[in-house]
Order: sequence, then C-alpha cells, then structure tokens
Amino acid sequence: MSDTQPHFDTLQIHGGAAPDPATGARQVPIYQTTAYVFQDADHAARLFNLQEVGYIYSRLTNPTVAALAERITHLEGGAGGICCSSGHAAQIMALFPLMMPGRNVVASTRLYGGSYTQLTQTIKRFGWSAKLVDFDDLDAVKAAIDDDTRAIFCESIANPGGYITDLDAIAAIADDAGVPLIVDNTSATPYLCRPFDHGATLVVHSTTKYLTGNGTVTGGAVIDSGKFNWSASDKFPSLSQPEPAYHGLNFHEVLGPMAYTFHSIAIGLRDLGMTMNPQGAHYTLMGIETLSLRMQKHVENAVKVAKWLEADDRIESVTYAGLESSPYYDRVARICPNGAGALFTFAVKGGYDTCVKLIDSVELFSHVANLGDARSLIIHSASTTHRQLTDEQREAAGALPNVVRVSIGIEHPDDIIADLDQALNKALA
Ligand SMILES: *Cc1c(COP(=O)(O)O)cnc(C)c1O
Repeated sequence: MSDTQPHFDTLQIHGGAAPDPATGARQVPIYQTTAYVFQDADHAARLFNLQEVGYIYSRLTNPTVAALAERITHLEGGAGGICCSSGHAAQIMALFPLMMPGRNVVASTRLYGGSYTQLTQTIKRFGWSAKLVDFDDLDAVKAAIDDDTRAIFCESIANPGGYITDLDAIAAIADDAGVPLIVDNTSATPYLCRPFDHGATLVVHSTTKYLTGNGTVTGGAVIDSGKFNWSASDKFPSLSQPEPAYHGLNFHEVLGPMAYTFHSIAIGLRDLGMTMNPQGAHYTLMGIETLSLRMQKHVENAVKVAKWLEADDRIESVTYAGLESSPYYDRVARICPNGAGALFTFAVKGGYDTCVKLIDSVELFSHVANLGDARSLIIHSASTTHRQLTDEQREAAGALPNVVRVSIGIEHPDDIIADLDQALNKALA
C-alpha cells in the first residue's frame, strides 16, 4: 500500500473497518453486546485508567459504533470522534467539555429550528446560555464574545435557508478570542464541506440525515480536529486541569490531541449516556458507503429543481446558494466546492394558506420533518419546525409564512419537477 491518504470515495467504504479480527467478516459486524470480558484484573484496571484502549461497556464504546465514529473522523479529516444517539445529543455532547454554569456560546441566528430552541431555551437549565447574532455581521460576532464565552457555533450550510457561513472569517474570530468554533456540518456532509480545512475545531453531525441517507435511524457525531490548545488559557479546566470526575486526570496533558475525544467518552458518554446503539450504527455505516454518489445526485437534482422554480411565474423567490442569483453563490466555490447541498426554501406567490395547500397536494414529495433522505421531502417551516419561534425569529431564520422548505432527493429530476408543478397548480387554483 502507498502511504498517500486514500480518497473520499475509498474512505467512505473502508474507513474504520478492517475485516473482523475474530471471524474475518468483511462487513462490520453488529456487536450486539452490553459488556466485554476482561482478560484479567490487571487488564480491567488498565482499561479503566485509560492506559490501554479497549472495550468496557457499550454506554462508553462499542466496536460497531467505533467503526462509524472512525469513518466519519476520516471523512472530516479529524483526530478523533464519538457517535451519539441523535444530532441534538451531539450538540450537547460537543458543548459539555467546554461549558460550566455561567458560560455562554455565541451562535448564528441561522440554525435548524430545534437547535435554535435547544440553545436559546433548554440549555439555560444547565446554567449555560447562548447569544445569537447574524454571522454575516463579523463585528457583531466579535462584540458578542465576552469573558464567559466558551464556544462559537454555526452551521456550514444553514438549515433551512440555503445560507453558507463564511467559516474562514468566523474561525479567525474564534482564534483571536481563544475559543473553539463548532460547526454543524449536517446539511453539507464532509463530501461538500470540510470545516476543519477552514479553521473549525469541532464538527457535529446529525447522522440521521445525509450520512445515513435513507431515513431509518437517528444518530449524531462529534468530531475533533485535535488542533485546539486547551491549555493555552484557563478557560477549559475540565480538559486542561485535573478533572475530579475522572480521578484527577489532566486530559490534555496525558492525551494530547485525543484529549477532547477521550473526555467525551470517559466523562460525557459515561455520565450523560447519550450513546448510539450498534444496530443504529450499522444502518449509518451502510448508508455512508454511498455518500459521495448520493451527494453528487442530490446536488445535481437540487440545481435543476431550483432553476426551474426560479424561472416559474408562480414563485416569488428561491434561496439556493447554488443559483447565480444567490448572495452566497461566491461562497460556494470556497466553502463547499462540491456543491451547495440539496436543501433550500422557495417563496410562493400567495400566503400561509397557499403553502398549506401546496403541502397537501404533493404526491411524490413526502411531508415530513426530516431532511437528507434519498426521497424528496417538503415542509412548511412556519407551521411546523419553526412554529415555536416569534415572527422576528422566523424571519431571521428564513421561515416566512409563504415559504416552504424542500430537501431534494435522488429520484429522477423530471419527476420531482412534475410533482411540484401539479401541486403548485392545485395550491393556486
Ligand atoms: C436534524 C438536525 C439536527 C438535529 O439532529 P437529530 O438527529 O434530529 O437530533 C441538528 N442540526 C441540523 C442541521 C439538522 O438538520
């Protein structure tokens, strides 16, 4: 074997998955077990001391789940990673090593609806808070950072509006402030965007979406670049000072670039228990093998559908960054060179009721609160995913009453367009 790094298409099939050492099984077995027999008492002690890496209990690690974590880590170009029970679990797990009561995260206003609520409401119960600002206003991002800020959070391609974040600019601000940039790379996938190449420290995923690609399981992942110096300041004591929750271990001193990942396993998964199960990891491992092929087709179809919509009289506007008319078109080549994804919104000439009728008239599209499925999906954000936000928040998130969000699937593009055409006719009749 040559020592050059294999390409993406190869890593999505082989990354993290050698033939099973026990049986030679070529596919990654589903290790459906809770616990692992120790060789002897000394082996057990070494595992618990993190002196040797191995399996103890499946709340912490499991070989099937570990294969998936390693594969996503390869695809993102990171140093280490963990999988979790959902994308939202991954977001909490990503913040957990960094935060304490009284600390805050500076986040983009353009977020998945559920992330918006998680950050603005739910994390308050932990004594954490979020400051949401427009990430195109770099001065506002800088101004929002204070002594208690411990992370900056954004999405690479932001859900639902087809907005592309200038990751390089935000990473530079995070660097100056000495805090990590966390990028939710769900809508882009590492095939379209590699946040670590733009200076991000951590990547989170909802593997529920494109990585699995077939709408079968929920899951999440947190991947660490391994490049952040946790000891450069006293901001991250859980990583850079003796941690009482793990018998005084100094994770950064002992584990170096793997400090964050081991912290996430040894404390995060151990004590929060947001663990992915091996059966779930299996479905995602199956899906991820075809990630690049699917993403190429998703993007190709999205461009065709977005262009058709943009040229149609019944449509007011289309927010797809892959259209030349998009203010974010120039960022596509720099941030996500393989395409702007397959998730966008369009505004219908009509109002709330027209959109509801459109949703009720589609036949090929599925009306679901999901994205990144092989199937084309549609949702009216204002009446569903973004329902709990105020009018101003909905506007900032690009979820106005006459706007619908589509996740373009990998069916034949003519069939996707035909379905939208007949549904628009019914909605506007
Ligand atoms: C779906 C999604 C999430 C949440 O993931 P779950 O797996 O549903 O918990 C977070 N961020 C983005 C961008 C998403 O699309």
